[in-house]
Amino acid sequence: QQRTLLRLKPQRSENKRRSRASNERCYASSNKKKLKVVVFSTSDYEREILEKQLNSHFHVTFLKPRLTIETVDLAHGYDAMCCFVNDDLSTDVIERLSEKCGVKMIALRCAGFDKVDVESCKKFGVLVYRVPMYDPLSIAEHAMALILALNRKLMISHSRVKSGNFTLDGLVGFSMRGKTLGVVGTGKIGRGLANICANGFGMSVLGYDLKQKREFVGQYCDDVETVLKNSDIISLHLPLNEHTKHFIAEKEIDSMKRGAMLINTSRGGLLNIKDVICGLRLGKLGSLGIDVYESEEKIFFKDFSNLTVEEKMLYWDDTMAQLSSLPQVLVTPHQAFLTHEALTEIAECTKQNILEFAEELDDAENDDASREDVSNTTRVC
Ligand code: NAD
Repeated sequence: QQRTLLRLKPQRSENKRRSRASNERCYASSNKKKLKVVVFSTSDYEREILEKQLNSHFHVTFLKPRLTIETVDLAHGYDAMCCFVNDDLSTDVIERLSEKCGVKMIALRCAGFDKVDVESCKKFGVLVYRVPMYDPLSIAEHAMALILALNRKLMISHSRVKSGNFTLDGLVGFSMRGKTLGVVGTGKIGRGLANICANGFGMSVLGYDLKQKREFVGQYCDDVETVLKNSDIISLHLPLNEHTKHFIAEKEIDSMKRGAMLINTSRGGLLNIKDVICGLRLGKLGSLGIDVYESEEKIFFKDFSNLTVEEKMLYWDDTMAQLSSLPQVLVTPHQAFLTHEALTEIAECTKQNILEFAEELDDAENDDASREDVSNTTRVC
């Protein structure tokens, strides 16, 4: 049954949103009841930054566990919930959040909302906000770090030097100057990487996007095959959705230059990882750098290093084990966003999003304006 918990005023303009930022001190010092906010998947690296932004405005509880159907009841009695990239926001969790826990708003501390069942949120009247942009250059720079480390084989030389081996065989890389970077998805991050490669390294840049952007420094191709065929390094900067799932599979790998480098800092689901491993084994793909992994929620952000072998086996991921064993592969655990600048922007935007929700809540209580279709950059639904 279709339900609307909140009746909203028409969406405010960006200007009003900005002016609300200057009024936030009033909100903090007003007599209004402070919203109760529960933060899931809190890590030590972000806690202080989040506390600084949120604690003066809301009653906040920080929890370490990831949101799952097993942990969702911890949100009971809170108005809003703050989640991270691998929290489970599937149908069952949303239903329980709304029906049993009474949560009315989800503030994502990330840009991608591929883990959110948006239709269920609409059905149960749960509002979802995200952080659409936070220092995109942080992610672009991490993609560049993966490219350079793979090209100059830094992982191998680092481990050799640590074990007392100072030889050079097997470490030959290539000069970046004059090579071609293919950017698939020329949004904020893709364009950032294109700028670094074109202006910093003298590379040629090709791009593919459904919506071409004037600011893109490279040359657009009409189809992705042309980008794949002509690039020495291919970097993916697409959102994950039903059109982009397994965007790179056997056919796409076949159309790449032999020995090309593939970089993915977007979402693991963009790759058919079995086909990618097969391409690496056959030498069709020269190297792979990934910051994201399709089933990362089972293993990323966790430490298994002190577990017994038996305990480790419970979490064992064959595909990740294969990837980690290949010398031409570099995996980082979804850390591309992890800079002080990005974390600060995430915390600030999250605070603004919850403040905006608090105002929507006030408006809903105070007037009868009808619900509008709401779409802006931070509001998902
Ligand atoms: P963006 O929205 O600015 O850019 C995405 C681009 O992809 C847009 O230009 C869009 O037109 C294009 N696009 C969408 N579907 C397409 C398709 N089917 N074919 C071709 N082009 C298509 O997003 P962004 O800020 O550049 O972020 C890109 C992705 O990076 C995000 O979706 C997110 O998943 C990921 N991300 C990862 C991290 C990390 O820490 N690893 C951090 C932030 C974002």
